Amino acid sequence: MISTPFEYSRAMSLDDALAKLRATNGEGKFIAGGHSLVPLMKLRLSEPKVLIDIARIPGLSGIRTKGDKIEIGAGTSHHDVASSALLQQVCPMVAEAAAEIGDPQVRNRGTLGGSLAHADPAADYPAVMLALDAEIHVKGPKGWRMVHAHDFFRGLFTVDLAADEIIAGVQFNPVRSAAYAKLHQRASHFAIVGVAVALDVNNGVIRSARIGLTGASSYATRLKDVEEALAGKALSMPNIEAAARLAGALLEDVNSDIHASQEYRRAMIPVFTERALKGAMSRALARIQ
Ligand SMILES: Cc1cc2nc3c(=O)[nH]c(=O)nc-3n(C[C@H](O)[C@H](O)[C@H](O)COP(=O)(O)OP(=O)(O)OC[C@H]3O[C@@H](n4cnc5c(N)ncnc54)[C@H](O)[C@@H]3O)c2cc1C
Repeated sequence: MISTPFEYSRAMSLDDALAKLRATNGEGKFIAGGHSLVPLMKLRLSEPKVLIDIARIPGLSGIRTKGDKIEIGAGTSHHDVASSALLQQVCPMVAEAAAEIGDPQVRNRGTLGGSLAHADPAADYPAVMLALDAEIHVKGPKGWRMVHAHDFFRGLFTVDLAADEIIAGVQFNPVRSAAYAKLHQRASHFAIVGVAVALDVNNGVIRSARIGLTGASSYATRLKDVEEALAGKALSMPNIEAAARLAGALLEDVNSDIHASQEYRRAMIPVFTERALKGAMSRALARIQ
């Protein structure tokens, strides 16, 4: 299928991208990797008159330390996240989740910013960003603002991002005791259920846990009841297993589609929560020993 005709221009800075978008009077869209937008255009579910290419804005991609935090530019490809030596060392969950996105073509073109802006209910990064309590940095006509991941994902393909704003990047405190576990759809690798866990463990006790769930409902969400069940408990297999059993029980909005029924997803949420918790636990134990 062929998209409706559009004009194309390439932005060379964030401000240039915002100015070019403003000049389209609501008829334009940013394009980064194109791996979500182009399929929508081919299906004519999106018909922008102007595409503003942000893929080559200098500084929009890259992974770096910023004080105690890690910053990932919005234009960073999934491949670059997956192969980052820095992330593999200080926050391997992020690199591992990126390595599980789609296939090599998708990972080479698709970007973190595009994934967050698009907010597919089955995308991997939203769960990971929720577990890391990441800050999403956004620029618009009124300047900069920062949104925490837990406020960013609002609904089906809906995020706290105005049509005239651009995501510049994300920042988070790296967590080594963290893991991602996903049941993937065989063809696309999108998550049927994906769970990201970040644990804060001190002297064998879980001080706090953050757990992000994707794929299961219309948008990524935190599993607060499981987090609360773990806080203050000893880091032990029985405690992990007991908490994981709660996962998804309070979730009213569970997806059902050609890939998995609601019942199957409900059954898989605790399974993959337990897997992610065990992955995070083994990383926490490796630090203690
Ligand atoms: C076959 C296939 C398999 C896939 N499998 C998976 C998977 O397993 N897991 C997964 O998570 N994803 C998967 N994806 C989606 C993939 O990760 C996309 O790359 C990603 O969702 C969008 O990133 P992009 O850079 O391609 O964005 P684009 O398609 O270029 O843009 C998507 C949307 O975001 C907007 N946008 C882009 N960048 C910004 C920005 N910086 N600021 C504001 N708005 C912006 C665009 O205007 C557009 O509305 C798959 C895609 C395909 C085609």
